[in-house]
Amino acid sequence: MIKIAIIGAGFSGTMIGVHLIKMANVPIEIKLINETDALNTGIAYNPYSKKVLLNVVSSRMSAFASDPDHFLNWLMLQDHFRDKDRTLIANSFLPRCLYGEYLKDIWKDALIQAEGKKIQVDVINSSVKDLTLLNDSIDLELKDKSRLSANYAIIASGNHLPGNPKIKSSFFSRSAKYFQNPWDIRSVSGINSKEPVLIIGNGLTMVDTVIGLLENGFQGKIVSISPNGFNILPHRHNGLSYTKLVEEIGEKTSLFELVKLFNKHMKLIREYGLSAEPLIDSLRPLTQTIWKRLTIDEKRIFMTRLRHLWGVARHRIPLHIHDKLQQLRIEGRLHIVSGKLLDIIENEDNIMAMYYDKKEKQTVQLAVSRVINCTGPETDLLKLDDNYLKKALLQGILSQDELKLGINADPDTFEALDSSGHIQSGLYVMGSNLKGLLWESTAVSELRVQAEKIAGDIRGKIIRGA
Ligand SMILES: Cc1cc2nc3c(=O)[nH]c(=O)nc-3n(C[C@H](O)[C@H](O)[C@H](O)COP(=O)(O)OP(=O)(O)OC[C@H]3O[C@@H](n4cnc5c(N)ncnc54)[C@H](O)[C@@H]3O)c2cc1C
Repeated sequence: MIKIAIIGAGFSGTMIGVHLIKMANVPIEIKLINETDALNTGIAYNPYSKKVLLNVVSSRMSAFASDPDHFLNWLMLQDHFRDKDRTLIANSFLPRCLYGEYLKDIWKDALIQAEGKKIQVDVINSSVKDLTLLNDSIDLELKDKSRLSANYAIIASGNHLPGNPKIKSSFFSRSAKYFQNPWDIRSVSGINSKEPVLIIGNGLTMVDTVIGLLENGFQGKIVSISPNGFNILPHRHNGLSYTKLVEEIGEKTSLFELVKLFNKHMKLIREYGLSAEPLIDSLRPLTQTIWKRLTIDEKRIFMTRLRHLWGVARHRIPLHIHDKLQQLRIEGRLHIVSGKLLDIIENEDNIMAMYYDKKEKQTVQLAVSRVINCTGPETDLLKLDDNYLKKALLQGILSQDELKLGINADPDTFEALDSSGHIQSGLYVMGSNLKGLLWESTAVSELRVQAEKIAGDIRGKIIRGA
């Protein structure tokens, strides 16, 4: 019997499993291994709060690329939405936990299909600690030291925790008042102090954390620090579909020319009182292609000079959440600082954070009650503490891309490349670990394509007996 191991059961692992079951026409055995109890949902769709929302409208969140209305159709069958206006729901930002329910339903249906096809599916609640390649199999060691062997394996273990801040007192990362995992409810709950909370980072996770703090009754001031302190932007798309920019992008367009073109079109549409959003949205379907065409030097320039700007323009939030943040800023409860965190020292009854405030051009000392790390997932696998991917990298089974954004993989099949650049046949990488290869490899719109492609590739190999 062909055995397929899927490491991780968030969106990626779940959807790989779903497609494998759908496509299978010979008996297969699927082992879906997930270290947490967030089966089918992963971090994103098992949030601690019902108030945190998807940052993409419902009509663009189908789990299946070939059935774009799948999520919307599912929603309209739910009691709560049955009598609601479909167009309104299609354009709404709904709770992320609802999307988790959707994924669980898809998985439940897949399991019924598997039973009918006599496909054995085992869900294993454990973590993979080691990955070894033998002559004709991929061997996984689990937390309890038990081993399982598979013909094919998919690395779908998703996002890693943010890296600890680079400050003078690095041992602060061991403090009980420091929260490295911003997706854990403990980061926002149980605060008895009114002293400010310091959030490191100023992106979408910061927004969720602010909402989580308020929901958990925190009444003090929240300070967020990031190198640029950019304002997070709201979705305010007026429906304009702007194609003029992408029409001018050719196969040989350099990064420099691309930026020039972008600025030209931004000036043009701003003259008509429009925002740059339609420009960003028109680029989204092309980002992977553009990224793959850039030279390594251009990628480096993008990472140092443009990444944050792109991040702000691309990661927008629903308008009413944006209004809430603005209100908090007006009330003086949310302070967004552009600066550099220098040190954090824990005293007996508080924590002293020191940072350089770029706007005020001075070093500031701030007593805070806790520090929450919202800097985004660590991508350099070698910086992780104890992780099967780090071990595999050190053994040369896997390799990192030059920018240390993820794992090297074959651009056509997403099979991993070893340290000599050879394809590790049958060992696939999916999701955020493909960032070095594709840059945009995070959102559902990208992951749903990868899941189907990888499952199709495995199916092809099984048929060919490869
Ligand atoms: C807070 C947040 C909000 C988001 N909102 C949106 C949105 O609105 N729209 C959108 O399109 N995208 C959104 N995204 C992007 C999101 O990353 C993807 O949509 C998707 O959830 C990623 O799924 P994944 O399965 O690749 O990774 P994850 O969700 O991280 O799942 C990986 C799973 O693997 C498990 N795992 C990890 N290591 C091991 C191991 N060694 N052994 C076994 N199991 C392991 C983890 O426990 C986890 O369950 C959001 C992301 C985040 C973090």
